[in-house]
Amino acid sequence: MNKFSFFMPTKMVFGPDVVREAGAGLALGKKALIVTGRSSARRSGALDDVLSVLPGEYVVFDQVENNPSVETVIEGGKVAKEEGCDYVLAIGGGSPLDAAKVMAVLAVNDAHPLQLYQDGWQNRALPIVAIPTTAGTGSEVTQYAVLTIAEEQTKKGLGGPDLFPQVAYLDPKYTESLPLDVTIDTAVDALSHLVESYLSQRATEASELPALQGIALWGTTIPALRKKVIDREARAALLLASSLGGIAIAQTGTALVHALGYSLTYYDGLPHGRANGVCMPAYLEYTKTVAPERVDTILELLELPSLAAFGGLMHELFAGIGGTLQLSAETIEHYVTKAMLTKNIKNSLGDPSAEDLARILSRGSDPRS
Ligand code: NAP
Ligand code: FE
Repeated sequence: MNKFSFFMPTKMVFGPDVVREAGAGLALGKKALIVTGRSSARRSGALDDVLSVLPGEYVVFDQVENNPSVETVIEGGKVAKEEGCDYVLAIGGGSPLDAAKVMAVLAVNDAHPLQLYQDGWQNRALPIVAIPTTAGTGSEVTQYAVLTIAEEQTKKGLGGPDLFPQVAYLDPKYTESLPLDVTIDTAVDALSHLVESYLSQRATEASELPALQGIALWGTTIPALRKKVIDREARAALLLASSLGGIAIAQTGTALVHALGYSLTYYDGLPHGRANGVCMPAYLEYTKTVAPERVDTILELLELPSLAAFGGLMHELFAGIGGTLQLSAETIEHYVTKAMLTKNIKNSLGDPSAEDLARILSRGSDPRS
């Protein structure tokens, strides 16, 4: 066995009604900055549950947009400071969870978010409680926060050990109000974390355990995803698989799929998980040439007979919600150039070249493939 370290300091509490059952224990301080998107915290029932048991004071910041911007986190950090909040409680998909993490830093550090990427930060972020309402990003158990950086025309991840939430409350019922397209997009994001982590240069014996377990669990939801009728059991499996993906990427980071996907979201508006799903079949074909046994393990765990069946599954899941793209050769070159600048590329097995990435992206954007 090789040397490794494994750090995942978040306490996970999983199951029905865990928020209400936490009672006064939900509070990590005297005054919470509650961070949410515009509607999901209310629609999912999570905000009502929180407010029914939370002791102490709170202020709600409910203006986080999808793929959160620098301006939004500055705004939220200002509210936390002015209101004297001493912890952050995030409810929502990856967007509010990630934004809340950066607000927790800005609440106690006088810095512009872009400086955080350059120089890090001095004072430890406020403690964070995370309550996911999507089953996709795993942000509730990672040290990452992804922001949209308009100046660089891309999305970029920020990381720090104090960005791991202190506690994550996972109740699958909060994902029941998700529209079908968001359920599928986020499920595919979870799968891409599990797969990219297992196929990472940085994978270790310890990071592979949650990754493999998560892939197998995700596989049990394929019949429900195909039927597009996602029952409670499948939602619970997806939520746990998503957290297992988070635990895995917290150790390894993501790889080339995320690096390419960021441009598909920034320029073409594809939701994050769908952007990954578009690239994944060709990514697995590429990786099969450098690590065939690993790709075969993934297919076995998903109970899919071949890579063609994997491609067929992605096609089927996105049918009707828009999973095809047509990119010109210039656009592909532009996205590849941007992706080659990211750290994620170095995590990918086989040291992919710009030509490899261009092949993956052009397959992904070919509606016949
Ligand atoms: P999201 O952007 O947080 O949410 C997508 C949409 O779903 C929003 O319109 C949201 O509404 C809605 N929604 C969320 N939960 C709902 C519910 N229970 N019922 C009804 N509607 C609901 O989507 P996401 O895929 O979870 O997060 C994507 C972001 O996470 C991206 O920025 C991505 O880069 C990042 N990410 C982070 C990590 C990490 O480790 N930190 C990993 C992967 C991805 P509202 O407008 O009300 O919010
Ligand atoms: Fe992701």
